[in-house]
Amino acid sequence: MKKKQFTSTILHADREGRPEHGVLHKPIHTSVAYGYEDARELAEVFQNKRKGYAYGRQNNPTIDALANKITLMEQGLDSVIFATGMAAIGSSLLALLRSGDHIVSSAYLFGNTNSLFNTLNGLGIEVTFVDATDASKVEAAIKPNTKLVFVETIANPVTQVADLAAIGDLCEKQKLIYFVDNTMTSPCLFLPITVKASLIINSLTKYIGGHGNALGGSVTDTGLYDWSSFDNIYENYKNKDASQWGITQIRKKGLRDFGSALGPEAAHHLSVGSDTLNLRINHACDNALAIAKFCENHPKVRKVFLSRIT
Ligand SMILES: *Cc1c(COP(=O)(O)O)cnc(C)c1O
Repeated sequence: MKKKQFTSTILHADREGRPEHGVLHKPIHTSVAYGYEDARELAEVFQNKRKGYAYGRQNNPTIDALANKITLMEQGLDSVIFATGMAAIGSSLLALLRSGDHIVSSAYLFGNTNSLFNTLNGLGIEVTFVDATDASKVEAAIKPNTKLVFVETIANPVTQVADLAAIGDLCEKQKLIYFVDNTMTSPCLFLPITVKASLIINSLTKYIGGHGNALGGSVTDTGLYDWSSFDNIYENYKNKDASQWGITQIRKKGLRDFGSALGPEAAHHLSVGSDTLNLRINHACDNALAIAKFCENHPKVRKVFLSRIT
């Protein structure tokens, strides 16, 4: 997506498909359950034979509108929204991985993600931490049971930049899921799909929501990974075409089974907040650079970390 189209694209996302009363924002739908003509109709919705909403833990119109916006921002195929960024990471990994699997992760991680990966180690999912600023270190850590490579675009908090394009090529060649945390850059500054990411996570709590008034997280399937080559898809999620298998399993396990659903009020805050992402992020970058330059010349500051994605 060209920069100048970013805001227009997401602003108009809620207004497609003749919204109720011509509203500019998707309304906050608080209903947890939905009424149907008869039990047969309801059963068909529950069985995915008929379009409709069944139960708030799995889907909700306000959440769907937010998911659509994130998918448009990331130029992906589909997204699932979670209660927090950590819920998005944890639920996606637990939905896709099994005991005996192996992950290669960047050693430069948000602290809570690092803690989660240590928890996974205790559940029989082994994690090897490597210096992901060098793709050859990632390659050296790959084993026969490696399923996934996890990196942050710019790592939080010390801003190391992963060797994003080279790791993307490596994952494509080795048929590994390339799981990219885009929180620090946001889809406004960087599109992980351009380095062949398979799945993208965003903490919506940060730049996308932008106002510190709601937590949220998302996972987006870019459509680049061939799920038919992935061993861990349950048979009952293979009824659609293979492009849907991964995101369906994340939705079913992550939301239906683990229950880490976002509330519709928070979704509304995040969605309205995201409308100004492009305006805010450029200002935030200018401020960060000004602070870094000030600190670089300050006698009491020992070191300034400056990183660039080229
Ligand atoms: C904040 C953050 C998360 C977790 O997001 P929450 O919404 O706080 O759960 C994950 N990754 C990165 C890089 C973050 O900065």
